[in-house]
Amino acid sequence: MNVDTIVIALVIAVVGLAIGVSVLLASLNYPRHIRHALQSYGYSKLLLAVAFMIGAFRANLPADVFVPLANGLGGASVTLNYVSIRRLQEKHAPRRFALWVGALLTLACCAALQVSPNDLNLVRTISSALLCVLLLLITVELLVLYQGRGVAHVMSGAILLMNFVALSVRVWMNVRYIGPADDAALSETVERVVYAAVFITNVIGPVVFLLMASDSFNRELQVLANTDGLTGVLTRRRFLELAEIEFVRAKRYGRPLTLLILDIDRFKSINDRAGHPFGDRVIKAVAQCCTTHLRPEDAIGRLGGEEFAVLLPESGQEAGERIAERLRATIEESVGALGAEQGVAVTCSVGGVALSSHHGGLSTLIELADAALYEAKDRGRNRVCFANAPITRSLSMQA
Ligand code: GH3
Ligand code: MG
Ligand code: MG
Repeated sequence: MNVDTIVIALVIAVVGLAIGVSVLLASLNYPRHIRHALQSYGYSKLLLAVAFMIGAFRANLPADVFVPLANGLGGASVTLNYVSIRRLQEKHAPRRFALWVGALLTLACCAALQVSPNDLNLVRTISSALLCVLLLLITVELLVLYQGRGVAHVMSGAILLMNFVALSVRVWMNVRYIGPADDAALSETVERVVYAAVFITNVIGPVVFLLMASDSFNRELQVLANTDGLTGVLTRRRFLELAEIEFVRAKRYGRPLTLLILDIDRFKSINDRAGHPFGDRVIKAVAQCCTTHLRPEDAIGRLGGEEFAVLLPESGQEAGERIAERLRATIEESVGALGAEQGVAVTCSVGGVALSSHHGGLSTLIELADAALYEAKDRGRNRVCFANAPITRSLSMQA
């Protein structure tokens, strides 16, 4: 059975139309950058649908207008595909690129028909060559540069690579074998291959693109779930998850590990005297201060209110005390300066514990750090106390 290119073109147009409209409607439920990516993808399918609709009816349409237009729309469609993939990664890609590429390709095809009237193969060669460049760009973006790799982006790259091969074959056959004389049978075979490749892309492409969008959405949700909205540090839940993993690892391999719990002193009175929004600024500044002064491998989470937990892998009691004291002193100095703007003192107390072989679980470690924090508060605040130290030491400036 020989399937006519007109039938394939019509099927591509109808499928493209349905997919384009569905993707555009679905895009409304997604956050900004994913919505923009989906919209670009939806528009690309609509443009492709119009291009192939023109292709299907081209026998009844004036060729010197509609052939360049269909090719221009195809170029704009592929450019929008490129834009959508870049937008999914939050990279810069204005949609007007598609307008420029579409206009350029339309003009190039018009010029080709002026130079060599009725030479459709010249038009096909020009547009296929440009589309090959675009497809190569997208493939590199997907297979080499893509941020947030997964199975979907590899499949998407593979599909576009298949399109690239089909269009390269079209260029090669047109230049080498078909030429202006237009060998109708050979030309029809080549077109059938190209249309089949576009058809497959139109069916599988949207599925993998939606999977890529869904991966991106899940990553965004994960970041939201793991990040405290006010301070940007880990949420209590995520911190405890990571702490559990670190605890098990450190215990199994006998590695040092220190847990600190840090609480802002007399925070209620900061709120009362300087106002709740200023209190928020203080909480943020403390979190920022800790983040800047910790190593990338350390973890910091907001346990709640004005209380933070810090996990220091590969740090024993001595290093832990040093780091805790450094945090306390920096907060007193830099966040203290912020407090001074509103006439309030900002200091913090820190309770710490270093892992030892008799600590059974993470909860024991947390209880001990908490008890050390209470001790620091009892001893007058603005100081560091460690649990289980031979002599619980106060490292604050004043006794
Ligand atoms: P202590 O030195 O013993 O820690 O005294 P404190 O006043 O800091 O302790 P307390 O736990 O009694 O007060 C904590 C206050 O933190 C109470 C609560 O209103 C306030 N708070 C909790 N979450 C937030 C927040 O997100 N923003 C602001 N501005 N205040 C908060
Ligand atoms: Mg407090
Ligand atoms: Mg507290």
